[in-house]
Amino acid sequence: MKRSFILMLAASTLLISHSFAQAQDLDLIIRGGSLIDGSGSRAVKADIGIKGDRTVFVGSSAGKKAKRVIDATGLVVTPGFIDPHTHTAGDLSDPKRSRNDPYLMQGVTTVATGNDGDSPTAIGATLAKWDQQGIGSNAVLFIGQGTVRREVMGMSDAKPTAEQLDRMKALVDTAMNEGAIGISTGLYYAPGSFSTTEEVIEVSRIAAQHGGIYDTHMRDESSYTIGLLGSVKETIRIGEEAHLPVMISHIKALGVDVWGQSADVIALIDAARKRGVKVTASQYPYTASGTSVTAALVPRWAEANGALQKNLSDPSVRPRLVEEMTQNVARRGGADTLLMTSARDKTIVGKTLAQIATERKESPIAAAIEIDKAGGSSVASFNMKDSDIEAFMRQTWVMTCSDGSEGHPRKYGTFPRKLREYVYNKHIIPLEFAIRSSTSLPAETLGLKDRGLLKAGYFADVLVFDPKTFNERATYQEPTILSTGVRYLTVNGQLAIDNGSLTSALAGRALKH
Ligand SMILES: [Zn+2]
Repeated sequence: MKRSFILMLAASTLLISHSFAQAQDLDLIIRGGSLIDGSGSRAVKADIGIKGDRTVFVGSSAGKKAKRVIDATGLVVTPGFIDPHTHTAGDLSDPKRSRNDPYLMQGVTTVATGNDGDSPTAIGATLAKWDQQGIGSNAVLFIGQGTVRREVMGMSDAKPTAEQLDRMKALVDTAMNEGAIGISTGLYYAPGSFSTTEEVIEVSRIAAQHGGIYDTHMRDESSYTIGLLGSVKETIRIGEEAHLPVMISHIKALGVDVWGQSADVIALIDAARKRGVKVTASQYPYTASGTSVTAALVPRWAEANGALQKNLSDPSVRPRLVEEMTQNVARRGGADTLLMTSARDKTIVGKTLAQIATERKESPIAAAIEIDKAGGSSVASFNMKDSDIEAFMRQTWVMTCSDGSEGHPRKYGTFPRKLREYVYNKHIIPLEFAIRSSTSLPAETLGLKDRGLLKAGYFADVLVFDPKTFNERATYQEPTILSTGVRYLTVNGQLAIDNGSLTSALAGRALKH
C-alpha cells in the first residue's frame, strides 16, 4: 500500500515535469506549413514541435514556445525521405564526403546501402566507423550475397561444396549479428549470377532467422537468361522458401523485348501478396538505367574465374563473344541508346557507343570490346518505356530509390524529380501517395523503428520544401549538380539544411537491425 502510493506520487511528479518541459523547452517549432505525415493521409495545415532528437507534437503550436520557430507558410512539411537502394558506402566512409550532400539536398535523411549483392565485408566495423567519424544522414547496411560468395569462392562459377556453403552461411550470420538489416543479391552480376536459386535460398534463410529482409537486383530484368517474369517468379520463390520479405530493387521492364510486361509483373506480385508473401519493390524515375559496358553487354561466362581480359583478346572465343554482345546491344535498344558517362578514357565520355564506333570506323561491338580492354566505362542505357515506369509507380508496394551511381543524374535528382515530373507535371500519382512511397513505406520495409512518419514520439527527421522550386538540376551531361528547393531538413532533430544551405551538422546515425 505504502509502496504503491510512493510509486503513484513519483509517476505524477514525472508527468508534471514532463509536460512542463514540453511547454517550455522545445528546440524547434515548424509552423504554418502544409503537413503531409507520410502515411498517405491528406495534407493538413499543422505545426510540428521538436525536442532533442524526437518529434514531440504534431498539431497546433498555440501557447507553445521553442528556442527557434521556423515559418513554413507556403511550404510542404514531410518526413525526411528514406532511400532503400544507394551506393553510398564509400561516400559515408570518406570524411570528405560523409555529409552525404547529394542526398540531403534531395530531402533524404536515411539511406540503405550494400545493395546489388555488393557490400562492405565487415558490417559491424563499418557501422562503428560511420558513427565515430560522423555522417550527415542516417544509414543502414545490407550484407551482400555476392560479397560473401567472393570471400569464400572468388569469382568461381562452380556450385559451392557443403563446406563452402556453410562458410557463406556463417558469414551472413555474423553480418546479421553485427547489425545488417538483411541480405542483398545481384544475381545479374558476377559472381551472384553463378549462384543457383537453391543456393540463394540457403543463405537467405540465415538472414530470415534474424528477422532480416531480402533485397535483389534480379537475375534478369530483360530477356538475357530467364527473362523478367522468370526473375520475378524466382524472387517470390526465394521469399516463400527462405521465409522472409523480398524487395525487388529498381523494378523495370528493360529493353524492347519486355516492354509492356509491367502488367504481368504487377499481376504476379499482387497474387503473391494475396497469398501472404511480403513482396515490395523500389524504383527510380528515369528511362535510362545506369551500369557498366561490361555488365550491360558482355556475357557472364566471359567474366568467370577472373578471365575477362583474357577472353576479350582471345581470337578463339571472339565469334561467340561478338554474337552474344550483338544480341545484348539489340536487346537494350541499339548502340545509340548507350551513353558513356564516366571512364578512364575521358575522350569517350558524353558519347554514345554508336558515335564512338563511327569515329573509330569500326563496329559498335568492336568499339565496346576496345572500351572494356581499356578499363571499361559507366553507361547510361536508355531502355525503359514511360508507360511501364508509370504503371509500376502507381502500385502501393513501390518505393522510391535512387540507386545513385557515377555518371547518372539519379544520385543527385531522384526524389525531387519524382515529385516534379510525376506529381506536379504529369499528375500520375497524388502528392501524398508519392510522399508515402518515399517515407513510411521504405521505413516499414527496412524495419526502421520510429521513422518514416511525422508523429509524436518518432525521430525528428523532417523535410520542409518549397513546392515551386523543388527540382533536380543534374543531367546526363552534368550528373553531379545538387537539387534545389529543400528549405529546411532535420536529421535526428538537428538542422542539416537551414534556409536552403547545408549546415556543418553530422547528425546521422548508423542504424542497426
Ligand atoms: Zn542494381
